[in-house]
Amino acid sequence: MIPSSSEITETATASESVTSISTENERIEMLREVEDEEEEEKIRRQKKLEEALEAKSLRRIISAYLNYPEAAEEDLKKWERSYRKLSTAHRALVPHYALKFQRLRRCISANSYFIFNMLQAFEPPIDLSQDLDGCEDSNLDCAPHEKYILDERHDSSCQPALTNNCTHEGESKSLHDSELQKTDANEPAPMNHSEDTRNNDKRYDCDGGHLNHDHGNASLSSHDWLDPSLQTHVPLVDVDKVRCIIRNIVRDWAAEGQRERDQCYKPILDELDSLFPDRQKKSTPPSCLVPGAGLGRLALEISCLGFISQGNEFSYYMMICSSFILNYAQVPGEWTIYPWIHSNCNSLSDNDQLRPVSIPDIHPASAGITEGFSMCGGDFVEVYNESCQAGMWDAVVTCFFIDTAHNIIEYIETISKILKDGGVWINLGPLLYHFADTYGHGNEMSIELSLEDVKRVASQYGFEIEKERTIETTYTTNPRSMMQNRYYAAFWTMRKKCAIRA
Ligand code: SAH
Repeated sequence: MIPSSSEITETATASESVTSISTENERIEMLREVEDEEEEEKIRRQKKLEEALEAKSLRRIISAYLNYPEAAEEDLKKWERSYRKLSTAHRALVPHYALKFQRLRRCISANSYFIFNMLQAFEPPIDLSQDLDGCEDSNLDCAPHEKYILDERHDSSCQPALTNNCTHEGESKSLHDSELQKTDANEPAPMNHSEDTRNNDKRYDCDGGHLNHDHGNASLSSHDWLDPSLQTHVPLVDVDKVRCIIRNIVRDWAAEGQRERDQCYKPILDELDSLFPDRQKKSTPPSCLVPGAGLGRLALEISCLGFISQGNEFSYYMMICSSFILNYAQVPGEWTIYPWIHSNCNSLSDNDQLRPVSIPDIHPASAGITEGFSMCGGDFVEVYNESCQAGMWDAVVTCFFIDTAHNIIEYIETISKILKDGGVWINLGPLLYHFADTYGHGNEMSIELSLEDVKRVASQYGFEIEKERTIETTYTTNPRSMMQNRYYAAFWTMRKKCAIRA
């Protein structure tokens, strides 16, 4: 409102002081703006650093995959050298060895071919070209660096886990989508399409018309990061993780893994089935979260059972592979891999060791999923402690997961928080705490509760045990090996009662 002139005169003195106050206010305001800008700049740089660290971590994982053929070949050469050290007489006793080495080379080629196709289909959710050098700043807290490298964690974007008929629904940030028509460019040599590898001739040529989305993805079209010259050399332990993934593929996606799945996943599925008998009649299906979902089979089975199922996983090793199988598999048995070639130990015969395994055993897109099936990347505690997750889930299923925690209490607390009152937590697994013996990482926290204490803590977070038993099972074990490590895994169903400790 405009004041009258008399008012202006009358308030002359006051106006002087108003002026000085407003100057002071302006100064404070300016300072605040500068501070805000500085804070924003700091956050921006921190974010940039975190992204660069994540990019570095992801590049390392991709490099580990790309280093697989070379590392496998190194092992093979070592075996050959040992063989050559045999005396002529001894060598004559195992004359088929030369042939076995040839066969092994073909198996490595087939595995490499699968891996390479998987990487070609992968759409990095971050720009892999960014460098750490550009964002080093003394003001920044560089602590997360090591954490990122160790945990292979990545962003917490959720994406539909599977795209029926290759059409993409839901969010725009996806691990896949634009590369389905890639063929065998950069195919690793030497490729020998013997009858053992024939299935791997398959090219991805999906005609579902799903390539029209702009995912705002930093490196959608170019797969520069697959260029071997840009590969970084990774420690052999990283390549070991690739071999672990290959074993995990058998657990989740091969007929050979059925026995293990029957031991681990079936009791969980049976339990869910009996706990939610009327789920088909409800307008909205019950929701179930699977933290530490690995390669996604359990989450998929839960979806097929009639739940809105979400897998959560923080390892890019796993996510790259599960995304490929869930989204890109066209027919059962599309690929042939040789999961057991990397160890000569406890083998009944060479044929056992070199036996092919067809994957996937089912076509995920035709398995009969319930709408809303998704995979969510990121650390379980970080992602699900968001306030929007509180009381969201009817069921949480953990299979070989809870012992991956630095602090298992934090896992239990989070599970309790995200469950609805009356929701259920089904768990199956041992307590082989992952960080219990991390030599060389002395500062890594590791809380290693006994089963009794786990249950006690759970009761403090409002859980009541409804069922409990021990299940004997293996985990990614070669079913034909002379060594079969067994777990006597804890299996339970707990229900969240209302009274929760803060
Ligand atoms: N449930 C699967 C995988 C078990 S292995 C199965 O039964 O086969 C444990 C999985 O948990 C691994 O894939 C690992 O990458 C994942 N994981 C470990 N810590 C995690 C965390 N904090 N958040 C999300 N996933 C995690």
